[in-house]
Amino acid sequence: MKIICIGMNYGTHIREMGHEFPEKPVFFLKPDTSIIQRNRPFFLPEFSQNVQYELELVVRICKVGKCIQKKFAPTYYSEIALGIDFTARDIQKECIANGHPWTIAKGFDGSAPVSAFVPKSNYKDIRNINFSLLLNGKEVQHGNTSQMIFSVDDIICHISEYCTLKMGDLLFTGTPQGVGQVKIGDHLQAYLENRCMMDFYVR
Ligand code: MG
Repeated sequence: MKIICIGMNYGTHIREMGHEFPEKPVFFLKPDTSIIQRNRPFFLPEFSQNVQYELELVVRICKVGKCIQKKFAPTYYSEIALGIDFTARDIQKECIANGHPWTIAKGFDGSAPVSAFVPKSNYKDIRNINFSLLLNGKEVQHGNTSQMIFSVDDIICHISEYCTLKMGDLLFTGTPQGVGQVKIGDHLQAYLENRCMMDFYVR
C-alpha cells in the first residue's frame, strides 16, 4: 500500500507558511513504515530540531482505480480517519532550498500516526466535517473539510491520472492552520467532530 499526502490544501495553512496557492493538488508519498496505529507513542527523530504536527483527514481507498472520473470518486472510499503528517520542518526547508524531494522530511519512521477508521456514512456530508487537535489539553488546530481547496473527489480524480489507486491506500488530505512543534512528553489528542480518535504521547 502507499500513503499519498496532499500539501497546501487549506488557505489558512498556505498563508501561515507563506506559500502560493496551488492550481492543481500537490502530492507526495510516505512509505508504509511511517504508519503508527493504536495510539502508540511517536518517537521524536534525532536528526531534526523542529518536528511539527499537521492534523489531517485521512481517506482509505477501497478498490483499484485508474483515471477515475470525479463523479465516480465517492465509490472509491467508504471509510475515513484522522492522521498526523509529522514533518521535520527544518529538514523540509533545506530540501526546498536545495530543490530536493521532501521524502526525508516527511517519510521517516513513525511520521504518519493514523486513527481507527469509521464509515463515511456516519457523516451527513464529507464536505462539512469538523476536526481538531489538542496539544497538552489546549486546542491548537481546528479545521472543517469545507475549507479544502481540492475536495477528496478532486484529489482522487487528479492522483489517479498519474498513480493507480489500490485497495488500502491512504490519502492524507492536507492540514489547516495552527501547525507547530512537538517536544518529548507532549500529549496529542485528535477529534473528529466530538469523537476522540487519537490520544498518544511524544517520546
Ligand atoms: Mg501535510
